[in-house]
Amino acid sequence: MHQTSIPLIGSARPDTARRPALSVVVPAFDEQEVLPEFHRRLAAAMDGIGLAWEVIYVNDGSRDATLAVMLALRAADPRVAVVNLSRNFGKEIALTAGLDHARGSDGVVVIDADLQDPPEVIPELVAAWREGVDIAYAQRRVRHGEGVVKRATAAAFYRVMQRLGGRVRLPKDTGDFRLMSRRAVDALLTLREQHRFMKGLFAWVGFPSRPVLYDRAARAAGRTKWNWWKLWNLSLEGITSFTVAPLKVATYLGLVTAAIALVYGSVVVVKTLLFGNPVAGYPSLLTVMLFLGGVQLITLGIIGEYLGRVFNETKGRPLYLVERHIPSGGTSAGTEAGEQSTDGPTLGRVA
Ligand code: UDP
Ligand code: MG
Repeated sequence: MHQTSIPLIGSARPDTARRPALSVVVPAFDEQEVLPEFHRRLAAAMDGIGLAWEVIYVNDGSRDATLAVMLALRAADPRVAVVNLSRNFGKEIALTAGLDHARGSDGVVVIDADLQDPPEVIPELVAAWREGVDIAYAQRRVRHGEGVVKRATAAAFYRVMQRLGGRVRLPKDTGDFRLMSRRAVDALLTLREQHRFMKGLFAWVGFPSRPVLYDRAARAAGRTKWNWWKLWNLSLEGITSFTVAPLKVATYLGLVTAAIALVYGSVVVVKTLLFGNPVAGYPSLLTVMLFLGGVQLITLGIIGEYLGRVFNETKGRPLYLVERHIPSGGTSAGTEAGEQSTDGPTLGRVA
């Protein structure tokens, strides 16, 4: 369904004729150092599976030579497809762009370019998926190269999400690294919201799934693009796009403060009746005012977070813009007309 809307200029035959069974989607932002090594390890792992495959490298507006490296990989290996986004859109959207362009008829693997998700785990994902689940997701056994604080906050985040999530369960210690069946991918692609918390979207889609345990390695080269501010924002994104529970905080805070006020008010009235009114109470008055002011600002902020997201969604903008798309091309027999063609800017479809 979503294939036909990508115009492949000059491609005469329907591209279903040479659809690979598996697609691997790799979002990359400033990954020039690791990409060649990544591709080598990926190809070795994929070739062992025995299914026709392609890999879609999505260049998410890198500032280094990532695109040139991708094009070189494409020139050397026709199983490579390149999607060059018009600027940096962020990992979640780059991933979506890759999924949109994945032609794999049976399944799609999502993996990071920095070799933190070892490509060697893919055959294990495939094995789990062949046993009949739609989603085989890689679950981290330990985190190498990550500090105590990062591990602790990640654990806390998963716990909070677990509590708030209600019906939708987020598997813990699980990133985007996974294999999805074609129908799961198609289901996922119907979710076109701007604020894409992928872990939440994966969980929302559901379908039978199974974890595959692996050891997450430290980054092979380059630097992580995450910092604390980004992680905080990702957590906000996760919570606000996943649950409206924080909106209820205002209600309960209001109820609790009202109850306390009632008790305190009665105390004041009784005290005044018994002992007269000595016109004291400035400190308590100030405390109550400041407390209530703080509570009101916090709840306004929470409402603002949601309102901002409503605003962004109502604009209905495309998720991303493609500067150039080079589909993977058949066998090593050479390229046919149209295969190397670059289509003009295409829009991230709003299905
Ligand atoms: N990434 C991306 N766009 C961005 C940031 C990251 O496509 O704006 C890619 C990055 O190249 C890598 C993956 O997303 O393949 C994960 O990024 P990173 O390693 O920085 O995140 P972490 O592993 O720390 O979660
Ligand atoms: Mg990483």
